[in-house]
Amino acid sequence: MQKAAQCMDLDPEILEILSHTQKSLIVSLPIRMDDGSLKVFEGYRVQHSELRGPFKGGFRYFPEVNLDEIKALATEMSLKCSVAGIPYGGAKGGIKCNPKAMSQGELERLTRKYVQAIYQIIGPEHDIPAPDMYTNPQIMAWFMDEYSKLSNRHQPGVVTGKPIEVGGSLGRNTATAQGGAYILEEYMKQNNLKPEAMTVVVQGFGNAGQYATELLHEMNCTIVGVSDSKGGIYNAKGMDPNAIIKIKKEKGSVIKSSEGEVVDAQKILEKPCDILVLAAMENQVNEANMKNVKAKLILELANGPVNGEADAYLEKKGVVIIPDILANSGGVTVSYFEWVQNQQAYYWTLEEVQMKLKRGINEAFQRTLKFQKDFDCSMREAAYVSAFDRLEKAMKLRGRQ
Ligand code: GLU
Repeated sequence: MQKAAQCMDLDPEILEILSHTQKSLIVSLPIRMDDGSLKVFEGYRVQHSELRGPFKGGFRYFPEVNLDEIKALATEMSLKCSVAGIPYGGAKGGIKCNPKAMSQGELERLTRKYVQAIYQIIGPEHDIPAPDMYTNPQIMAWFMDEYSKLSNRHQPGVVTGKPIEVGGSLGRNTATAQGGAYILEEYMKQNNLKPEAMTVVVQGFGNAGQYATELLHEMNCTIVGVSDSKGGIYNAKGMDPNAIIKIKKEKGSVIKSSEGEVVDAQKILEKPCDILVLAAMENQVNEANMKNVKAKLILELANGPVNGEADAYLEKKGVVIIPDILANSGGVTVSYFEWVQNQQAYYWTLEEVQMKLKRGINEAFQRTLKFQKDFDCSMREAAYVSAFDRLEKAMKLRGRQ
């Protein structure tokens, strides 16, 4: 952030304000577990800025969730919405828990308790949560239902990423990967790279990673590696994503697939490929492995997957990194479309959603490239500049105190 602020000569008062999150709420959530015991979970909702519109951002269920991380992610959301040109501020939430070890009933009770606890600070015109790591459309449906009951009104616009049947948008589940794929397509076109000559490794096989694998395969890239939390598989000759998805569904992990040889979850990042898609979690490429990364192009579909040291090292080495706030902004962009449809109670076709996403993300990409050229900086710094530029203008117009 600092570097981008310096290079564009951002008003220091504005940087100071944006370096703080506006509000943090920590809640305790007592839940009756299936075995009759009572367990108290800790939940968070952090609101960073509402300069450009209502607070917006997902919430995650993960054992290592903590306030500092949620604050950093909330800040990222303000920048992401700004770089994407959608009229939102930034927020993030989470609950410290292990959803993989919880039943559906426990997850439902936890989600409803969370809504009750943060009810006062959210709402369709104020703060709109969404899925993030290990939260999904079903959880968003419970969230919407609980909020609607508490407010005695049907309020689908309080949360995005819902199932289609209860006010979700077509194309939301594929949106993060789709946005990244549109950017890659454009990048390859501009740099005269042929998709059929590109080999790809995808780290992470959740929503973003799985669809990215499919979409890049459809673009004729060769998928040579994929991984999930249990490990990875690699095959220099290329693999069939459909076969891997089928095995993942049936047996719980990509490593059960015979499409490639099994490799360690971390080692997949060091395997030869042209494009490395990071779709797992933060801090995956770091001091320990940055020197072994072979990819020439990195697409950050997760938030913060390359840490600061690795970013500086790879940048110097000439590796192009398409930064998270741009690369994965397709998710929140289609969340915005979902919210617009909810507010109008009028729903769009998949073609309309994808056409608007393509246009929006390509504009965000071109704007970033222009700043990169103007300021002769990395794409990450340029994306920050693009975000700061809109935030600075909004703050100058609205006032800063
Ligand atoms: N959690 C996603 C992100 O980090 C989506 C947020 C949203 O749709 O509001 O961008």
